[in-house]
Amino acid sequence: MAADYIDTYYRRSLVANQPYPVLARDVAVDVAVVGGGLAGLSTALECARRGLKVALLERHRIAWGASGRNGGFVTAGYATGLETIRRRVNAADADALYRLSMEGVEMVRDNISALDIKGVDPTPGILRVIRYDGGDGIKAYRDEMARRFGEEMRYLAREEVQALTASPVYHQGLYEESGFHFHPLNYALGLAAEIARLGGIVAEGTPVIGIESIGGKHIAQVPGARVTARHIVHCGGGYTDGLERRLRRAYLPIATYVLLTEKLGPLLKEAIRTEAAIADDRRAGDYYRVVDGDRILWGGRITTRVADPADLATLLRRQMVGTYPQLGEVKVDLAWSGLMSYARHLMPQIGRLDAGLWHATGFGGHGMNTTAIAGRVVAQAISGEGDRIRLYEPFGLDWAGGHIGRAAAQLTYWAYQAMDAWRERHNGR
Ligand SMILES: Cc1cc2nc3c(=O)[nH]c(=O)nc-3n(C[C@H](O)[C@H](O)[C@H](O)COP(=O)(O)OP(=O)(O)OC[C@H]3O[C@@H](n4cnc5c(N)ncnc54)[C@H](O)[C@@H]3O)c2cc1C
Repeated sequence: MAADYIDTYYRRSLVANQPYPVLARDVAVDVAVVGGGLAGLSTALECARRGLKVALLERHRIAWGASGRNGGFVTAGYATGLETIRRRVNAADADALYRLSMEGVEMVRDNISALDIKGVDPTPGILRVIRYDGGDGIKAYRDEMARRFGEEMRYLAREEVQALTASPVYHQGLYEESGFHFHPLNYALGLAAEIARLGGIVAEGTPVIGIESIGGKHIAQVPGARVTARHIVHCGGGYTDGLERRLRRAYLPIATYVLLTEKLGPLLKEAIRTEAAIADDRRAGDYYRVVDGDRILWGGRITTRVADPADLATLLRRQMVGTYPQLGEVKVDLAWSGLMSYARHLMPQIGRLDAGLWHATGFGGHGMNTTAIAGRVVAQAISGEGDRIRLYEPFGLDWAGGHIGRAAAQLTYWAYQAMDAWRERHNGR
């Protein structure tokens, strides 16, 4: 059953909410894309821009999943750090992968301005803060990123961090000029409109329920219609079901949570005095930003439980007040969750399953830039324009471990939380 958007800040501030029709007739296209999140949208748009006829098939609404519910941070990088990437690939390929992630940020920025997408409200600046004294370490990191990638980050001493975020728990910070934050749902709908304008089919309420491959063609079966395509690209994210067994076994759906406060008025400035989005460096740490003038959109926590905890708002609120005790009386207007798709290696899974069958999944908690570049490298591979997709080959469809994998992921997260707490108590040691 197709579902409407869940209640989020983004849904409440949609610029346009005109549904796209269900696909109810047989069609033939060059590329059919399964899933209308940002991975599917970027893939379909990059293909359409190369003159390919596309059909984007979404079970519910465009960006109904993680892409329309997330924190809205757009920054370079992946869900895992360069050190981990270098364990699987050589240093040159690791750097090339990082540069692709930077290109992803630029793609999003370019789309917003070239397509003049309304209600996206891109706001520059990401402030990364740490909860222990790590001054020299983060200066070294800043210098390395500037030298290797030309990424400009400004070091902030504790007093400077305190001037922007009046939290007793923060020490130093890095201010990233190139990152920004935005309204991901309005952005996604802008991409969908452009795909339609370029002659692509955008279908909502259209689940792909089976795929058959005959004589070099692939057929995506949707209720009451068939989509014949030269290429099919799987982009189901954390909502990928049993449609393709090789994908289903290769990812873990991980839930993460966001809350929206009431309007805070002058109280806001007693806690946050920057327009930049803020994130701490804990594993699955806190990330938050100001929206709607004086509300805080606060994200954090992960769990392998797919159903929302009953006390979701209370859990997140405790986290926020632990960071800013001055917000102790603040009320929560709304809280929601979304599913991310994580591979064991924590990198996106972008590649080819068989001739004409592709996948772009596993973006984890770092999907705004990585889904953009995924769409581009898949479109380039399909149209024979280049093989940058090969850089993702070493991060394949390893088995994610099923139920045991879920339990292991939860245990790893708890272990990370304990390590973070230890590091903060012992000031970085
Ligand atoms: C709460 C939250 C906060 C986050 N914050 C950030 C952030 O600040 N910055 C950042 O970079 N990343 C963030 N992320 C991660 C980011 O949102 C995801 O990595 C990214 O949106 C994944 O995009 P996707 O297209 O792969 O998946 P999704 O957006 O989940 O889209 C998948 C779509 O596929 C559809 N689908 C699945 N199966 C079928 C089928 N058989 N037929 C048709 N349709 C199908 C689903 O209905 C869904 O709409 C966050 C994620 C969450 C949940």
